[in-house]
Amino acid sequence: MVIVMNGHATEDQIEKVIASLTQKGYDAHRSTGSTRTVIGVVGASKTPLDPREFEIMPGVHEVVKITEPYKLAGRTFQAEDTVIRLGDVAIGGRDIIMMAGPCAVESEKQLDIIASSVRRYGARILRGGAFKPRTSPYAFQGLGEEGLGHLRKVADRHGLYVVTEVMDTNQVELVASYSDILQVGARNMQNFNLLKELGRQKKPVMLKRGLSATIQEWLLSAEYIMAGGNRDVMLCERGIRTFENYTRNTMDISAIPIIKKLSHLPILADPSHGTGLRDKVIPMARAAVAAGADGIMVEVHHEPEAALSDGPQSIYPEQFAELMAQLRIIAPAIGRSI
Ligand code: PEP
Ligand code: MN
Repeated sequence: MVIVMNGHATEDQIEKVIASLTQKGYDAHRSTGSTRTVIGVVGASKTPLDPREFEIMPGVHEVVKITEPYKLAGRTFQAEDTVIRLGDVAIGGRDIIMMAGPCAVESEKQLDIIASSVRRYGARILRGGAFKPRTSPYAFQGLGEEGLGHLRKVADRHGLYVVTEVMDTNQVELVASYSDILQVGARNMQNFNLLKELGRQKKPVMLKRGLSATIQEWLLSAEYIMAGGNRDVMLCERGIRTFENYTRNTMDISAIPIIKKLSHLPILADPSHGTGLRDKVIPMARAAVAAGADGIMVEVHHEPEAALSDGPQSIYPEQFAELMAQLRIIAPAIGRSI
C-alpha cells in the first residue's frame, strides 16, 4: 500500500500517518517529492491495514493498493527519477555517465594506463574487479584487497570514482572502505543476505541483472536493498541467458525502457558482458543509450590479448574514444548530454 499525501499536507499530518503505520507494526518509507509526499508501507504485521482508515486522515490525497510486489523501487511510490550523486557526478540525471576499466585489476600499472586514457576520453567512474566471480575455480580470482588499494589510488590520481564488485557479506565493510559504488554481480543478484547487508550501507549500490532473472525478480532484489534503508540503488542490464549462443549473453535492450517505466531507479547497460564480443560492444552501447540508459559500463584494456580475464570482450582505449564521439552525437538527439 502507498499513501499519497496531498500537495498541501502539513508536516504534522504526514507524521500522524507515519505514526499510525508504525504503531500498527509497519515500516513507513517516506518519499518527499517536489509536489507531494508519498509514504510507502512495507513489512508484515499481524494487524491488517484498512485503506479507508488512512483515506479519511487529514492531508491524505489517496491510498493506492499496489499490485506490483515491489513498492519502494516502483514509480507509484516515487514518480520522479532517482538521481544518485557522487561529488559532481549525478547518475540518473541528464548526463549519461560512463564507467570504464578492465574486467579485473591486474596491477597498479595496468590500471593506471587504462584509467588515464578512459578519463581523458570522458569516463567518470573507474571499474575493475578485485574479487572476481569466475566460472572456473582455476581461473584468476582477482587481487583481493591489494586490487582495491590500486583502484582507490589510481582513481584518486585521475579524478575518477570507483565501482567494484562485492561478492560476499563478509567483504562488504572492506569493499565499502575503498569503493564509491558497491557492485552486485549477476551471479549474486538473488543473494538475499548480501542484499540485506547492502541495505544497511551508506554507499550507492549497482545491482546487475541476474543471468536468468526476470525484470520483476530484478526489481524485487532492488527492493531488498531499499527496504533496508539504502535508497541509492542503480540497476545494470548485462545480458541474460537465452537459447542463442552466438553471443555470450543476449543483451536485453528492451529492459531499459521497461525499467524506466516501472521504476525511478537509474538504469545502466553493460554491453561487454551483454555480448562477450569486442566488435559488438560499441553498437550495443549506442543502442542502450538510444533506448534511454543513464550510463554505460564497459570493459577497456590496453592489451586485451594479455588480459587475465574477459580479453575478447574488452575494447581498446582508442575504441572507447570512438564510442564517446558517437555517443556525443546520439545523446543530444534524445535530450541527454554526455
Ligand atoms: C563484472 O562486471 O565484473 C562482472 C563480473 O559482471 P557480471 O556480474 O554481470 O557477470
Ligand atoms: Mn568481465
